[in-house]
Amino acid sequence: MIAIGIHGGCGTLPVEMMGAAQWDEARAHLADSLRAGWAVLARGGSALDAVEAAVVVMEDSPYFNAGFSAAMNAAGEHELDASIMDGADLRFGGVCAARRIRNPVRAARALLENGPSVLLTGPAADDYAAVCGIELVENRHFTTERQVQALASLKARAAAGTIAMAGEAEKHGTVGAVALDAEGNLAAATSTGGFNNKPVGRVGDSPIAGAGTYARNGVCAVSGTGQGEVFIRRVAAYDVAARMMYAGQSLEQATDAVVHESLSSHAIGAGMVAIDARGCVHTPFNTIGMYRGWVDTEGNLAVASHEDIIRVGRLQA
Ligand code: ASP
Repeated sequence: MIAIGIHGGCGTLPVEMMGAAQWDEARAHLADSLRAGWAVLARGGSALDAVEAAVVVMEDSPYFNAGFSAAMNAAGEHELDASIMDGADLRFGGVCAARRIRNPVRAARALLENGPSVLLTGPAADDYAAVCGIELVENRHFTTERQVQALASLKARAAAGTIAMAGEAEKHGTVGAVALDAEGNLAAATSTGGFNNKPVGRVGDSPIAGAGTYARNGVCAVSGTGQGEVFIRRVAAYDVAARMMYAGQSLEQATDAVVHESLSSHAIGAGMVAIDARGCVHTPFNTIGMYRGWVDTEGNLAVASHEDIIRVGRLQA
């Protein structure tokens, strides 16, 4: 049995502000990401390889806040966070505030495989990627007009004292993937540019085990999106696993409780993609929309941004 789920962040525009052509393309990129992950699983590959492949596609897309078109910090530069976790043996790798790694999830994966550290920050993360032969780019590679405008708008709001009125899409976004492979292994990966106008050196939940990313065989794999500071304090991704392990909750009960009760009690935008040991995918969010998609155990591929779920077709297992 194989299955995969993804999210492209809960920082979506209201549906009426999203251009039809742009949304068509963003949707196509979500489907491409799912196909990339599914292809790995369908040929008997590992959940780890599948989530890495799915996240790389979204990191390279201009529609999501990760890799290319990542958010900018207060200095107008990009600092990228990413991680990946293997549910089979709890191996984990994460990079924080990386500035030059084209696909940060690849560096996280190298760290998971080779260690010896679990987390590397800033220049150390960039240097580690270089030694591993992972592609480096100039920091400006990640810059797009959309993020330049979002930063300018947030700075103007900060100056005018209207930051509370900023839309979720202006502020943040993330990408993530979870998968179950034919051997029963679960894995999760997450990658983000974090929040627009974030302080230099700020690290969110995405590269932190148990906060934005978690996987444990027999239980679940989780990738989160939303205000990282709260995910860290709530140990949100691990909380989903703990509820399932110790309180006997289903994946749906656990993720709904964490998103709609724990995280929502802080009045933040939040969402998750999660998968259980039977390949059920659940994608709760409390914002107006969350880019998301899945291929279920029957091979049915679906993507969504707001309420409507678009059933794209059936893939061969
Ligand atoms: N969780 C990310 C962070 O705080 C942002 C997001 O998912 O929207 O860096």
